[in-house]
Amino acid sequence: MPARLNKKSTLAQLGEFGFIEWIKKNTTVSGSVIKGIGDDAAVIALTEKKRILLTTDMLLEDVHFTLKMPIGKIGYKAIAVNISDIAAMGGVPKYILVSLGVPARTRARWIFDLYQAMHQTALKFGTCLVGGDTIRSDKTIINIAMMGESQKDKIIFRSGARPQDKIFVTGKLGNSFKSGRHLSFTPRVKESQYLVKYFKPTAMIDVSDGLLGDLGHILQESHVSAILNENKIPRQPSATLENALYDGEDFELLFTLSALDSQRLRKIKTPFSFYPIGEIIKGTGQIFLRNEKGVLRNYCPKSYTHF
Ligand code: ADP
Ligand code: MG
Repeated sequence: MPARLNKKSTLAQLGEFGFIEWIKKNTTVSGSVIKGIGDDAAVIALTEKKRILLTTDMLLEDVHFTLKMPIGKIGYKAIAVNISDIAAMGGVPKYILVSLGVPARTRARWIFDLYQAMHQTALKFGTCLVGGDTIRSDKTIINIAMMGESQKDKIIFRSGARPQDKIFVTGKLGNSFKSGRHLSFTPRVKESQYLVKYFKPTAMIDVSDGLLGDLGHILQESHVSAILNENKIPRQPSATLENALYDGEDFELLFTLSALDSQRLRKIKTPFSFYPIGEIIKGTGQIFLRNEKGVLRNYCPKSYTHF
């Protein structure tokens, strides 16, 4: 137990990231685990060159969705958030396990429709449902576990950003909840595959907790700091700068490229939008925002946490 906590301390006091840190320190892994806890997906060596990626995400009724929302969108989101995590590692999503907790009163039609939506989404992204588990629960819980694959040299961790690298994002940010986009976003698999094929991103993450929070994860894992150019951060219509910096669930990819790769990317015509928003500098996880006058402000990489 961390020193500042006592026997009566709660999870709320420890915090989500404190808990994850605790798990990391108190578990061991075998030699084939290239990356365990601490990235968008775990990375396992299957053969000398081939890597398996594993990720899981849970959605809870009245926290992540309500039963009044269109069922097709809930099914879509449950699959899409996992696909996004595989894309954030530079991998190709492949197989899916679906575990459900459902109250006995749940209408069979609702579950069938949920499955149809998940199945259609799985197929849309070249993946398939291969199993799962079902239990009775007080509220509906949808847990998806996904396997993806990649070649050894194509995987992108959060930890590779270096000073002078440039920072990019794949799309406009902010107001995902308000606009409903958090239920219908496109996971950036194509962009990710394009990047790993033609470039070598040094770090990558998907923006699920908010731009500053997720950039904070890259900075922490890479032991660097960053400067963002305020007026270069692409915003969704009606999103304020604060929305673009802090709102979660955009599921765009946030990645870094060496200065050389960055120049190449900016020169060529790409089939996708890649927005340059700043650069990596030496430091210990700080984020500075540069306004149009060139003035730097220190920003806090706070992000959404579950407790
Ligand atoms: P993301 O937002 O990309 O889905 P999370 O913030 O949920 O990532 O998780 C960060 C890391 O912590 C991941 O490596 C994940 O596997 C790990 N993690 C989260 N919760 C648990 C848990 N209960 N047990 C073990 N590992 C966990
Ligand atoms: Mg992620």
